[in-house]
Amino acid sequence: MLIAGNWKMNGTPDSMEEFGRMIARAPEATARGIDLLVCPPAVLISKFADRATVSKIAIGGQDCHPKEKGAHTGDISAEMLAACGASAVIVGHSERRADHGETNQLVAEKAAAAQRAGLTAIVCVGETEAERDAGQTESVVAAQVDASAPPSLDAAKLVIAYEPVWAIGTGRTPSVEDVAAVHALIRAKLEERFDVPVRILYGGSVKPSNAAELLAVENVDGALVGGASLKADDFLGIAIAAPKKG
Ligand code: PEP
Repeated sequence: MLIAGNWKMNGTPDSMEEFGRMIARAPEATARGIDLLVCPPAVLISKFADRATVSKIAIGGQDCHPKEKGAHTGDISAEMLAACGASAVIVGHSERRADHGETNQLVAEKAAAAQRAGLTAIVCVGETEAERDAGQTESVVAAQVDASAPPSLDAAKLVIAYEPVWAIGTGRTPSVEDVAAVHALIRAKLEERFDVPVRILYGGSVKPSNAAELLAVENVDGALVGGASLKADDFLGIAIAAPKKG
């Protein structure tokens, strides 16, 4: 089980205090076999990673450029993230797909870049509300998995996060039946192309009060958490609510 926090564009060096509280409480989750990952804004990765050496919280980035280095003003490479202490990076988050026009092809290139640098790539997929209303959830998610997580990736360093776009930051979540159906579809797609099991996270308005129910769903191997990952008590509350799975 992996509980990953996506801090998005939140946090300053003052956030070390809250992160310190997460480190203090992390053993409550890690002692139960739950992996913890925090993805702060890029400017805080080194600081968090230095602090995290005393804990079992892994640190990740929120995006990376496909290239290793060069004339790409404002971008950050996977190699830079790794050198600053990250062990994972989120790619293809719906906010980047929407705000920066990221395509499945680009997301696949970013995932490959992450793995080239030794990072675990957390590839996000998920339908919009209009797509769900049009009955296209399964076809959209299947197409995203096919194109954003091609068989050329290393399954051992790959995680898929199913994040329905309409559930992100809205307080709304799909029913457990809907989560189960989409995760089963993703599992089947992954098994077609990889021999090694790949973790599938659910993301979208996960909080301590709904974590147990969502994380108990078959083929849900953890959560990608936005808003609730900013507070140690909420983040650890989610991790501690995770049921033991075989
Ligand atoms: C996210 O953006 O990855 C996310 C899951 O956000 P939230 O938990 O705030 O819905």
